[in-house]
Amino acid sequence: MDQPDLHQAVSRLVGPGGPDVGCDACFDELDHYIELELAGADADAAVPGLRAHFEGCPACREEYESLRALVSGEQAP
Ligand SMILES: [Zn+2]
Repeated sequence: MDQPDLHQAVSRLVGPGGPDVGCDACFDELDHYIELELAGADADAAVPGLRAHFEGCPACREEYESLRALVSGEQAP
């Protein structure tokens, strides 16, 4: 059986040497990142690698977008 190495495949998608934070860290930092972003702070500088992770991870990107809509929606009628 020649099974494809999933981790290797993901690494190839993300790119070599990229500071990928990973999904667990991404979920941990997601609310913090969105708070900073909505506050007008430099979220990318505060949580480096998160934006890059969204680019390569549709699941986290979706989570980010729905959480962001939820958080920003709380402040609007
Ligand atoms: Zn992810």
